[in-house]
Formats: sequence, structure tokens, C-alpha cells
Amino acid sequence: MKPGNLSMVLRRIIMRVLLAATAASVLVCNLSLANAQQKSGHSKKDAAAASNSAAEDNDYSKKIKEYTTQAYFKTELVDHLPMSDKVPSPDKVLGYVVGTPNKLTYSKDLYRYYRELAKASPRVKVFTASEKSEEGKEQLLVAVGDEAALAKLDRYKAITAKLADPRTIDDTEAQSLISEGKVFYWASGSIHSPETGSPEMLMELAYRLAVEDTPFIQAIRKNIIVLITPVLEVDGRDMMVDTYNYRKANPGKNSPSLVFWGKYVAHDNNRDGLGMALALSRNQMKTFLEYHPAILHDLHESVPFLYTSTGTGPYNAWLDPITIDEWQLLAYHEIEEMTKRGVPGVWTHGFYDGWAPNYMFYVANGHNAIGRFYETFGNGGADTMDRTVGAQSQRDWFRPNPPQPRVTWSIRNNINMQQSAILLAMNFVANNKDRFLNNFYIKSKRSVAKAKAEGPAAYVIPSDQARMVEAADMVNLLRLMGVEVHKADKEIVVKDQKFPAGSYVVRMDQPYSRMADMLMDTQYYNVNDPRPYDDTGWTLGALRNVKTMRVTDQSILQAPMTMLTADAKVQGKLTGSASTAAYIINHNTDNTLATLRFRLKDVKMDAAEDSFKVGDQQFNAGSFIIKTEGNPDDIRQRLDSAASELGFNALAVDKLPTVKTHALSVPRIAILHTWTNTQNDGWYRIEFDRFQVPYDYISDQVVRNTPNLRDKYDVIIFPPLGGSAQSIVNGIPMRGDPIPWKQSEVTPNMGLSPDQTDDMRGGMGLAGVMNLQKFVQDGGLFMVVSTNASIPINYGMTTGVGILEPRQLQARGSVFNARFTDRKSPIAYGYDETLPIYFNQAPLFQVQSQTAAFGGGGEGGAVGGGGRPSGRGSLTDGDIVQAMPQASPAPSRQPGRGGEEQLTEEQRRALGPYLVPVNQRPRVVLRFAQDEKSLLVSGMLAGGSELANAPAVIDVPVGKGHVVMFANNPMWRHQTQGSFFLVFNAAMNFDSLNTERAAPPPARNRESEDDDQ
Ligand SMILES: [Zn+2]
Repeated sequence: MKPGNLSMVLRRIIMRVLLAATAASVLVCNLSLANAQQKSGHSKKDAAAASNSAAEDNDYSKKIKEYTTQAYFKTELVDHLPMSDKVPSPDKVLGYVVGTPNKLTYSKDLYRYYRELAKASPRVKVFTASEKSEEGKEQLLVAVGDEAALAKLDRYKAITAKLADPRTIDDTEAQSLISEGKVFYWASGSIHSPETGSPEMLMELAYRLAVEDTPFIQAIRKNIIVLITPVLEVDGRDMMVDTYNYRKANPGKNSPSLVFWGKYVAHDNNRDGLGMALALSRNQMKTFLEYHPAILHDLHESVPFLYTSTGTGPYNAWLDPITIDEWQLLAYHEIEEMTKRGVPGVWTHGFYDGWAPNYMFYVANGHNAIGRFYETFGNGGADTMDRTVGAQSQRDWFRPNPPQPRVTWSIRNNINMQQSAILLAMNFVANNKDRFLNNFYIKSKRSVAKAKAEGPAAYVIPSDQARMVEAADMVNLLRLMGVEVHKADKEIVVKDQKFPAGSYVVRMDQPYSRMADMLMDTQYYNVNDPRPYDDTGWTLGALRNVKTMRVTDQSILQAPMTMLTADAKVQGKLTGSASTAAYIINHNTDNTLATLRFRLKDVKMDAAEDSFKVGDQQFNAGSFIIKTEGNPDDIRQRLDSAASELGFNALAVDKLPTVKTHALSVPRIAILHTWTNTQNDGWYRIEFDRFQVPYDYISDQVVRNTPNLRDKYDVIIFPPLGGSAQSIVNGIPMRGDPIPWKQSEVTPNMGLSPDQTDDMRGGMGLAGVMNLQKFVQDGGLFMVVSTNASIPINYGMTTGVGILEPRQLQARGSVFNARFTDRKSPIAYGYDETLPIYFNQAPLFQVQSQTAAFGGGGEGGAVGGGGRPSGRGSLTDGDIVQAMPQASPAPSRQPGRGGEEQLTEEQRRALGPYLVPVNQRPRVVLRFAQDEKSLLVSGMLAGGSELANAPAVIDVPVGKGHVVMFANNPMWRHQTQGSFFLVFNAAMNFDSLNTERAAPPPARNRESEDDDQ
């Protein structure tokens, strides 16, 4: 996508104008075919005729034609703009027509336009979302409808609220509400910032809906109220306009790629539907629960020319099938209508699956409404350019009318396609208003009936579990999503299960039972299904390490329980002796314990190196011991108030427990990012900010330019990135001119980014790798996550760990069981024996007792093969070598990966200096479940033998410091709260990670087993 050549663009435009004139007559022919479609009785011919009336804004209409590259990339719905002497069209406020080449609009100007529109038209109202963006910007919601409808907005909100919760109405009342009510149809613009067209399009759509008087538009105004989110990712939009303007101001130079969108994440802002960690997700959720729109329509741009969502399947298994039918119904209506009008390239099905509920539009899908989206063709800016369409220009059963293989494309084409199709959908919904409201009502009713129909009856989050703070946080997430949560008044006894008083109960006889069910149930994704579009498993209780029980016995619905009317909160307290020697806090991996350590940074704390008892009370290894001696005088008060706020219990004891301890550090932490991608580190920053764990956010350039990193930091965390070790280390090539990411006159918003640079090029380079190696040698802790582990491994910073290429493994974004194999490691502090973790396909670690000089192999290197050499007999009936003395079969080896225990004395001798000494050997703290059959919690798994027993968390000693490697991603999309403490533990014990290193098991004497030889 290079900047367009202006004179070429002009020539093209002139040609297009000429072509458009000849194409117009073709369009009229197509329209006459379309007449039968309109149930309202208004033909499109009428609509077209009305739109050609004297009330047209001829100048604006002329520009639409001019900016559209082929006449068939527009329809009669958008080839003109109606004139109004009262209501300003976009060009009156902005100074340019929507879809003008090379023009993108900042959010402040979008908002200025909508406010002018609302001032001038009683058919438009503007509201502000309750939360500002992370960078402090407003998010707007615009309502457009009939003036009488907008005057009674509260009444229509009350109607949809009643249909959403049918427990208080009967069918008769519902039918009268349906006939009185209106559908809220909600269009949401640009959650994805490089997808630039929808914020422009929506301004024109709002104006058209407010002003145009064709029967087609009147039907929309009469029966539906259109809600518009002008731009959802406000921060990212303004960054995008900055980068685009930089590109325009610096022709011929390389321009910055959009390395920051919002403060934290980029494209994953549309994967926050399960975590709601971002303000934009919470705003959408609140808006849904306020209006109950029957349809939420999210506008994206990625494929040619207009993909309207249905998906390949497998579809989300917890949705009412009606929703899935409605996806098809609306999609095929749009395809038919657009195809009739001769518009090429409108299609469905073959993009995206429809499985995971982590997308923003699950605020609708998860709540009995319809969530849908478009992918239209964007140019990543507002240039007009020639584009080559790849495989999607091929005809297929779901794409009988494919996009053309080669096309000149403009932002106006994109706007025409989006606007035409969404108007067709709105008009269809308007003409079938009662049908959509009725479906919404039926779905709501069936959600309430779910407890007694398909079940389960409820989920219980028992109160007798280790992590009550985390449990409460999960409950509050459900409440944020509108799910009702109860608390058991007394012990609940159901078939085969018993839950103590105070347990949380999520009843399935409530309107949003499906959302709760899809979050808390387990997922099974067959590997033979189409390739998943995103994660395949997400079970909330497992990922948060919170015990969650699925209850099918309906008698639970009769148990006495009280609905929570405010967020759940765990009130911790400080108890015990007044003449205190120390305070003890059990380490249960509730994440607020990290907050405590960093908040009381002046307080000396110790970590117990083993579990111990005080009276009857059991304390886990890693429990905090805070002596009064040597600590501030007000320690009791400070602990007391922290306990109540953070939800932990502290026990004051007059005698120190007899357990070995070491000091619990307050490390100086850096989170490391590159200038190629910051998204995954954003999910880490979110958690560090939430739990108030301080850190510096440093780029790879800082690492490159700081020879003594150890002077500044104790811990450097490098969240995962795509790509090879070499591509990460090299960064953006040092070619061409410097590429700044920095606040300037033409890029005013970049100053809001979490980091800035004069030149994004050049990664950490070899100098950075060496600086990191020195940092670790000098006692620092370097944490690498997922594929980033290839950097210390491939650059020789560590020895004894390799990465295997999977042969059969298919494990895309799933939840797997893992178990702690070294519970004495401080990284395991506070945990139980097992932990479900999130893992996405790679890396497969292999621990070796030799350095890489010998290559990957060794024992256990041969995975997947199995079997035996070809010969006589069978798998169990051995081979016979002919006419020779017979040897006994080779000794059977322990399953597992190469390691010390696998080596014979003979092999050790042969390794010589390549044998890694015991005290430098990697320490495998956590492994995937040993048995292939017990690996999968949720998601997809095939070829699991490659993953079974593979290391998940490895601590590699290097010099005085450590490299800790994660195969799982412990901080993923605000969903893996159960794993956060792997990171916090490693950090707070960075200088004590060698604690209780187990002596390696004695070498097995293979000779004795092999004595037949
Ligand atoms: Zn998108």
C-alpha cells in the first residue's frame, strides 16, 4: 500500500466519470428487476425516483460519482445525498464530502459533526458512554429515528428491556409490547483502527437517515431506532489518522506502521469479549443492557468486497439456533439485494468460524440478540489504488458472485458498499420489525427455560475454595455482563454434590443464562472441523483457577439463596495475638497478594520455603511472613487496612513458625517491547496496572543501548511476539529514512502512546542480546514467553533447553491440564498440584542434559514415531534376527523427554564437556499433564502425545541469574488469572529461584539392566 501517484489517480477519476455515465442505464435495468422484493409496498423504483427528486444535493451527489471507481460499486441508495436547508450534511461541517480521497476524519471532528446534526435535527440524539477510553477520550453513541420515537426513547427502552427479561410478562402482554415497540439496530464503527471507512460512512448514514424522505428510508425511521457508535476504538482511530497524515506529508518515505492503537492492545480489542478489560468493551456491554438492541452490527474491513457474516462453523454451541438462522437470513437478504443491483463481490460463509465468544459483538450474541459483522474492502487509509484480489476472487458455492481479480479501489467504493448493504439490512428489519422483536422475546424466554429444558440447572462457585478473591472477580465479570449471581443462604445439597453456605450460584433460569453457560462450560473442538479462526477453548473457571461446578440437578433451583445486588467483595481481616512476633499470610495465589507486596514496598517480608502449620491452620509454601522486628511501627494498621481492601487474611503470631525462609523481593521490573508489535505486551501491562505492580515500559532499543541493564532492573519480562528469534532481534530493517513514532504537528496523538521514538527501525540487535545475557549473568531474571523463548535458546544464552517442531500436534488456543513437577521452586508457591493453563500450539520445549552441540535428539527426542523396526511378529511379539545369536530386547525407557534421568553412564562419559553440570540444569517447574488423555480441558487437541508431559515452565540458571521460559502464555487477554502468579512469583523471588533445587536423581545403571548383552 504505497502512496498513490496523484496524476494517475486524477486520470483514473476522469475515466471513471465517463464510465459511470454509460453504466447508469445498466443500473436502472437492474432496479426494475428488484421491485417484487419490498414487503412494505414501496418498490426500489419509487425509492430511486424519490432520490432523484429536486431535493437532492447535486454537488455532493456529483462528488459521490466522481469518487466511485465504477458505477457498479454504488447503488441507488447511496448515489446521491438529499438536500436540507436546516440539517447540515457532513461536508457543511467538515469541509469535504464523505469518502473524499486522501481524507480521514479525526474523532473530534466526527463528534463535532454528530453534535451539529443533533442540534439541527430532532431525529438525532447524541449520548456519551459512561467510561472514557484509556487515553481519556470520549466514546459517543448516536441515536437516529423518527422524532416521535426519539421523544419517547425511554418507553422504547422499557419495552425491549421487558422482552429481554420475560419473567415478568406473559405472551399476551409480550405481543402487545412487540407491536408497540421498535427494534434498536446498532451499527458500530471501526473497532479496528486500520479499517478506516466506517467512521466516515456512518456520518453520511446518520444524515441520510435523518433527512431523506424516500419510502425506503421512512420505513426504517418508522420501525427502528438506529444506534450508531461513530468509532469504537477512539484512541486507535486518532493514531491511525496521524499515521495516514504522516504518510501524506512525507511522500516517498517509509511511514510508521500502527504499532499502538489504544493504550494496551491493538486488533485484540475485538478479543476482549470474555475479559472486558477494556473501557470500550465495558461501554458496549452497558449500552447493550440499556437498549437491548435486537441487532449489533460491527463494521470491519479486511476482505474484498463485502463479506457479510455467517461463518463456516462450527458455530458457538451455546447459542439459541434461532440466532444462527438469523445470521443466515440477514446475510442472504443483503447478498440477494446487492447482487440484484449488479454489485460484484458480495458473499458470506467462507471467512471466520462462529465459535468463540471473545468478540465484541457477543454483547449481543451472548444476550439473545444478533451480533453480526461486515468485512469490506479497505485500503488502509483513504488512497485510491489498484488492488489485486487473491483467492477470494474465485467462485465457490458460497461466492457465486465473486469479487473481481483486479480492481481500482477507493474509500468511496468501500463506503458505498457498506452503506448500501446496511441500509438494506435495516430496511429488511424495519419491514419485519415484529418478527425480530418476537424472535428476541422467544430467545429470552427459552434462555429462562434452559435450566429445566436442556440444562444445566446452575453453576456453583463453592465458597470453600482457595482463591475467593479471584472467585469474586469472576462473579463480578458475570454481573458486568448482566448475569444474575446468587449467594447460598445455607448449605446446598443436591444429587452427589454439596456446597457450603456463601457459595455463589449462577442459575440457568435467567435471561442471560447462555452467556454464563458458554463462559463456564467446557469446549470441544473437533480437529476435522474447519481451521479455527481464533481460540478454541476458554473455560473461565479453569483459566482463573477457580473451582466451578456444573450442576444438572434441578432441585438446586429451590435452594434458599439471595441475589447479589452489588459486586462481590472479599473482606479479609487481621486476627491473632496482640504481642506479635510476626504476621503470616497464606499464599493462595490470589493476585492481590502481588499488590500487597509492591504496595508495602518498605516492609520486609519473607517467603516460607515449605508448607507449615500454626495451630490447626495450614500455610502453603511461599506464605508471607512479616516480622515485627525491623519493620515500621504502623505495620499492624497497614496490614489490617490492606487485608480488608485486598481480601487476604493475616494471622498475628507471638512465635515465629519453624520453617526456612528467604526475603521476598520488591524487584525493579521492566516490560520489554519491540517497535514491530506491542499487542501481547499490552495484556501484561493491563494486569500490572490493575494489580498496581510498578514497571518500566522499555523498548528493544533501550536494551540495545544499555550495557548495564542490571544497574536499572532486576526483572525483564518479554511477552510473546510472532516471528523467528532473528526477526525479533533484528526488528525493522535499517533501510530508508528514520521512521519516527513521536508527537509532532502532523501526528499530535502519538504523544499519548505509552512509548515514543525518533526511529522505529533496528531491533535490539546482537548488542541487545549481549546486554540481556550480561543482565542475566549478573543476577537478573529474564522471563520469555511462548515463541520468544527462541531468543535465549537460539542465541546460546541458555543451554539444556530445545524447541521441538510439532509433527502432529494440533492445539490451537486451548486450555490444558498441567501439574507442578517441582513444587519447591518459588515459581510454584501458593499453587496446588495442578493448574489449567492456556497454550496455543507452540513452543514444544525439550529439556536436555547436553548443550545443543549434539542437536535436538537424545532420549525422548523421537516423539510421535513409536512402534518398532519392521520385521516378523507384531508390536508386542518381538523380531527375530535370522541365523545369528539373538539379543534380548533393548531396555524399555521411561516415557518423557530427554533429561538427566535418561542418560546411561556410558552416554554421560561420551558427552564430556557438553554435559550440562547439575547446578546449571534447567529446572522444570510445571509440565503438561503426563497422560495424553487427561491433557485437554477445553478446545482442540490432536497429536497430544507430543504435548503430554512436555515442560510448560522452565527455570534455567545462567551465571548469577535466571531465564524463565513459559510454553503457556500466563497473561492472555485478561482470561488467565489463574496463571498470573507464575509471573509474580518468579519476579518476587528472582534472587531466590535456586531455593530447594532438588538433587538430580541418581543415574540409572543401564548396564545392570542390560546385563544380557
Ligand atoms: Zn476488523
